[in-house]
Amino acid sequence: MLARFKIPLIALAAFAIGTLDPISMVFWKVAEWHLPTIKAESLADDSPFQGISEDRWVAQTDNAFVVNDINPQGPVHLLVIPKERYTSILDVPPAIRAEMIDLAVRMAREHGVDESGFRLVINTNPHGGQTVYHTHIHVIGGRQMGWLG
Ligand code: 5GP
Repeated sequence: MLARFKIPLIALAAFAIGTLDPISMVFWKVAEWHLPTIKAESLADDSPFQGISEDRWVAQTDNAFVVNDINPQGPVHLLVIPKERYTSILDVPPAIRAEMIDLAVRMAREHGVDESGFRLVINTNPHGGQTVYHTHIHVIGGRQMGWLG
């Protein structure tokens, strides 16, 4: 009897603890079809990060700066962005890539999520779900995360 309801119960429990978010899932299903178009449109324009004024940067190094994500996926959601625009992480010179990762780790420490745990994410190209083609590292923490969300 209970076995019959196992999957709906697990789904309900996952929803209750916030690992399944049906609204985002529908949004992402629709967005997935548009990701190649999103790439072309993003490349045709200035990146939204280039318009963020320096007084909204929360930290910086010689070659990178940090802002709060406009649509945070957790209590801490920062973006580490190279000052020069590189389309994706594939194009970033190794020294700047290292500087960005160091800065991301520093941000996790300074925002107090190092011990509780955090995630660094670099979405790359359409299958990676990249929407802004000015590469960046997401630093997300402050809540329990599942494998993909
Ligand atoms: P991607 O999908 O490319 O990995 O992530 C792009 C991220 O940039 C998203 O999390 C989105 O919320 C964020 N974002 C897009 N436009 C802006 C903006 O103008 N300002 C800030 N702070 N974040 C932005």
